[in-house]
Amino acid sequence: MIDVNYKIIRQRLEKEHKRMAEQLQHIRDNRSSEERREGSPFGKREEEASETADLENMVAQEQRVMEEMVDIESALKKFDLGTFGKCEKCGRQIELARLEAMPTAKLCMNDAQKNAR
Ligand SMILES: [Zn+2]
Repeated sequence: MIDVNYKIIRQRLEKEHKRMAEQLQHIRDNRSSEERREGSPFGKREEEASETADLENMVAQEQRVMEEMVDIESALKKFDLGTFGKCEKCGRQIELARLEAMPTAKLCMNDAQKNAR
């Protein structure tokens, strides 16, 4: 039963990873065109300011996507190691409902709550 569910979760993670990679590519494409524009000596000051904010926004967004990808990759690696779904703290099985809601969860409900405090 659990194996079947894990297989579905794995597929979801793989799909999500692909989506993230595409999103990252998209952000990077946008960023390089933005950077080219910023290098231009023309344009008004106000516009420059808002473009810098855009660029900062993109960098932050890129950072977020990359972090998420790292999480997904480490979760996928656990499938190969056979440790997926195990709490990194107590080694017990993470609740399936929790994994379904958050496939990259590293801790069981109990330890996550302890950690949050
Ligand atoms: Zn635990």
